[in-house]
Amino acid sequence: MNAIDDALNANREFARRFTQSYLSRRPARQLAVVTCLDARLHVEEALGLANGDANILRNAGAIVTDDVLRSLVFSHQVLGTREIMIVGHTECGLLRFDGQELGARLERQFGPAPSPLAFHVFDDLEANISRQVQKIKSHPWLKSALVRGVAYDVKTGMLNELKGG
Ligand code: ZN
Repeated sequence: MNAIDDALNANREFARRFTQSYLSRRPARQLAVVTCLDARLHVEEALGLANGDANILRNAGAIVTDDVLRSLVFSHQVLGTREIMIVGHTECGLLRFDGQELGARLERQFGPAPSPLAFHVFDDLEANISRQVQKIKSHPWLKSALVRGVAYDVKTGMLNELKGG
């Protein structure tokens, strides 16, 4: 296993050519993106974003958890982002995944988790994205942000905006 060694080596070259020390912590496009950790999703490239343009939050399933809300409130109220985009995607690993079976298997194998762990699996991609959009829209500290939901197609690279999302 040497993926981390490879990353550290690649960084030496990156840092040698680094020219972006001028960037502000406030995202230039005033945009926050919540998306999945899926390795096929190159968020910056798919959305035409440059370094410094947006706050990008990733987790399994693009789920608006309490911790994502914490980050979005900070992004919106402190870092000045005005628009929030939820980017789900086709073929998501959490789509029709059996989280209870995984939890039971891990508990048998390793014992209980120190705190309850929900995998936030879902059966319908668009319904899941809409649910995440609603969680943001209903948070009183995020009411002034514009929120939209889209689905990324991993086979075509296309973004499809949700109706009313
Ligand atoms: Zn996913």
